[in-house]
Amino acid sequence: MPSLEEYVEEIKPIFESRWLTNMGAKHQLLTKELKDYLAVDELCLTVNGHMALELSLQALNLPKGAEIITTPFTFVSTTHAIVRSGFQPVFCDVDPMNCTMDVSKLESLITERTAAILPVHVYGNICDTEGIEEIAAKHGLKVLYDAAHTFGETVEVNGKTRGAGDFGDISIFSFHATKVFHTIEGGAICCHSAEMDEKLKIIRDFGIVDDEIISDVGPNAKMNEFAAAMGLCNLRHVDGEIEKRGRVADYYRERLGRVDGIRLNPVQVHVKSNFAYFPIFVDEESYGESRDQLHLRLQEAGISARKYFYPMITELDCYRNRYNSDDTPVAKRLSHQVMTIPMYADLTKEDADRVIKVIRRE
Ligand SMILES: *Cc1c(COP(=O)(O)O)cnc(C)c1O
Repeated sequence: MPSLEEYVEEIKPIFESRWLTNMGAKHQLLTKELKDYLAVDELCLTVNGHMALELSLQALNLPKGAEIITTPFTFVSTTHAIVRSGFQPVFCDVDPMNCTMDVSKLESLITERTAAILPVHVYGNICDTEGIEEIAAKHGLKVLYDAAHTFGETVEVNGKTRGAGDFGDISIFSFHATKVFHTIEGGAICCHSAEMDEKLKIIRDFGIVDDEIISDVGPNAKMNEFAAAMGLCNLRHVDGEIEKRGRVADYYRERLGRVDGIRLNPVQVHVKSNFAYFPIFVDEESYGESRDQLHLRLQEAGISARKYFYPMITELDCYRNRYNSDDTPVAKRLSHQVMTIPMYADLTKEDADRVIKVIRRE
């Protein structure tokens, strides 16, 4: 969080103008600053990341009930957005190394009902965007990236540096309080055409074009001025926060990189990471303990690690009777091995050592 003083200073003009929401001054300024920071063509702020997904699905204008190929190894929001929008999720298995969609398994899932692909840059690992977009172009499919984990990341593609939100037809971010950059609750939709951006902004506000013209059946998904003000404050500090996270990640990698039975995601050399999460994968046989046993030992030592993502989407109560987890065996295995360990900018070496000691059984 910013200091209280910084935030109070930022919200003073809101009290003076009494303009609380509906695309006020803070909203306009944050839109502009984020567009530059994220290096994207167009940016539409939203009330949260989930509504950014739902608005995107509505704006893409896909055929009713179409199939959307996505991943079962994600936060529930991704799948819920598809289902709540009346589409059918089809689950593609993931790559065991970086947990993103396994492109080699993508094409066989395409049917005449497939309309779009919704991949997720899990933990900030960037998907095989070239592979996905080649298949999408070949079959005339839309691509919507859930980029909720990748705030501020950049990617080298063919000698060019691109923002992580610059891929596909649309990419969405979440600015939830738990993410690397936040607006308390919030999100954004990035796209390439001014026309699409305009459509998203109309849908975001009930479909209102003007006082007498309502063109779309849209929800209310606007970001308010106090949230935008929090974003303006946090944006001033986010580079420093990411740098500090990077140091924690380096420290963990150095000390956990060669522990028998513990696997880490490989560093993606073409990506400038935001170090949003630090997942470790526990191989029960070679580590001698299951993920759940290690999770419990951490808990007993007062360390809260998170089984993120477990259960996988197709094993959640609301989905398990509709889909079969055995269709995506890699995702299933990862969900039983994974745990994200404490990661935040101000994590001290001493606290990191406590986590490392439990994992290394020292
Ligand atoms: C956080 C998150 C969302 C949802 O964002 P909210 O801002 O919490 O609505 C969607 N997808 C992924 C992968 C997320 O981590």
